[in-house]
Amino acid sequence: MNRPRADIVIMGGGITGCAAAHACAGAGMDTVLVEKGRIAGEQSSRNLGFARQQGRDPFELPLMRACIPLWQGLEPELGADLGWRQRGNTALAGSETTLARFAAWLPEAEAAGIDSRVLSVTKAAALLPGFEGRIHGALYTPSDGSGRARLCPGRRRCPPGRCRAGTAPSPERTDPPDEAARLRQGVPLRAR
Ligand SMILES: Cc1cc2nc3c(=O)[nH]c(=O)nc-3n(C[C@H](O)[C@H](O)[C@H](O)COP(=O)(O)OP(=O)(O)OC[C@H]3O[C@@H](n4cnc5c(N)ncnc54)[C@H](O)[C@@H]3O)c2cc1C
Repeated sequence: MNRPRADIVIMGGGITGCAAAHACAGAGMDTVLVEKGRIAGEQSSRNLGFARQQGRDPFELPLMRACIPLWQGLEPELGADLGWRQRGNTALAGSETTLARFAAWLPEAEAAGIDSRVLSVTKAAALLPGFEGRIHGALYTPSDGSGRARLCPGRRRCPPGRCRAGTAPSPERTDPPDEAARLRQGVPLRAR
């Protein structure tokens, strides 16, 4: 029997699988992405869209730091509007205990080369007018950003000839360009 072949088969069309497929196809591998439902039909279209380094577990910090330059170049690379904005992330401290927790995390950020800093009440209030008297300070990371996760198709179907997820090829395409992965939607992968 003539079985279909590929260099790599990726299971799951969320952001992890789509990003992996994009990278593998871009590296010249014959890539197949298999999704049991729809591209970005699960968590990847239901999140808040933050590319957040701030407050992360130390083990996650190198990965999160590395993702920011990737996000910065993704819209031109994909030719898609992903709603990327890099306006920083601010967590307010409603108590001295929370502020102390922010300060205790700061050396982890510094060690990872992340630009987080603890803001005094005055500086936090200057950044966010209206919070005077209600906060004890803040943790602020200027380089954090966000995209609009709901740009992904989620519960909707992709329009013919186009995949709004941006990182995946159209489900209708049978002749993907060299740099695109082949996509199979509605196909669960099962162990035999
Ligand atoms: C409410 C909420 C808010 C969040 N906010 C943020 C945020 O602000 N920032 C952030 O970084 N993260 C956030 N997250 C987490 C983020 O959404 C997830 O970490 C991310 O979407 C996971 O992506 P994924 O590709 O690993 O998984 P998924 O998006 O779940 O994709 C996995 C895919 O695999 C498919 N699949 C599973 N089994 C099979 C199979 N056998 N065969 C074929 N396909 C299969 C599924 O159908 C699914 O489409 C949030 C999550 C939630 C729920």
